[in-house]
Amino acid sequence: MGWVDTHCHLQLDERVPGDLLARADRVDWVVVPGVDLASSKAAASLADAHPGRVLASAGLHPHEAGMWPEQADAIAALAPGVAAIGETGLDFYRNLSPRDDQVTSFRGQIEIAIENRKPIIIHCRDAFADVHEIVEKSGVGPLAVLHCWTGGPKWTRRFLDLGVMFSFAGPVAFETGETVRFGAALVPPERALVETDTPYLAPPPHRGEPNEPAWVELVGAALAAVWELPIVEVAATTTANAERVFRA
Ligand SMILES: [Zn+2]
Repeated sequence: MGWVDTHCHLQLDERVPGDLLARADRVDWVVVPGVDLASSKAAASLADAHPGRVLASAGLHPHEAGMWPEQADAIAALAPGVAAIGETGLDFYRNLSPRDDQVTSFRGQIEIAIENRKPIIIHCRDAFADVHEIVEKSGVGPLAVLHCWTGGPKWTRRFLDLGVMFSFAGPVAFETGETVRFGAALVPPERALVETDTPYLAPPPHRGEPNEPAWVELVGAALAAVWELPIVEVAATTTANAERVFRA
């Protein structure tokens, strides 16, 4: 049984990436998303160092969106050599950068994804309506991966119609994750991915510890419980989905 961790920031972790990968012996491969130019280059270097085991994604996180004017060209230049664009998106919860900057950066990265025909990894926090509108109007839905999906039934239904993929993380396994589980129940397994968001959001029983790719199977087990499917089936389906999305 092999899993794919579609979102782990190994390059932002103070631990040695090779150690975390070695401990994740049931994880076939991982996607390492950048959050700015430097971390996107670091992700690409990790992919070079671990061929077949690490795929890189290049992008600018909504928290850093103010740097888009300076970093856009360099991120676009990385696009042909990486597996995906992002992480991008909108975060209207923490609002660490102005909303207009977030929207400009998000739209710019959507254009890069469409031009390069790459999947785009989208962060969406307290911004369901705006992300939905931008994804719908741009037509990027079939390339979109909604990372750490936490939407309930209403937004899950609306995003399902756009053709996106839903990547589930620790929150689907949290005791307080009931709304996320109600949303997950509506997602057909062939539209789902699993991730850890390492080093954040460790699933139970590891809450509060730095997360790591090996624990992606705890996310998969939570989805298996929601769908009432065997864990091996969830591993096989989400891994096949990841192959289709990131390695096609
Ligand atoms: Zn992330």
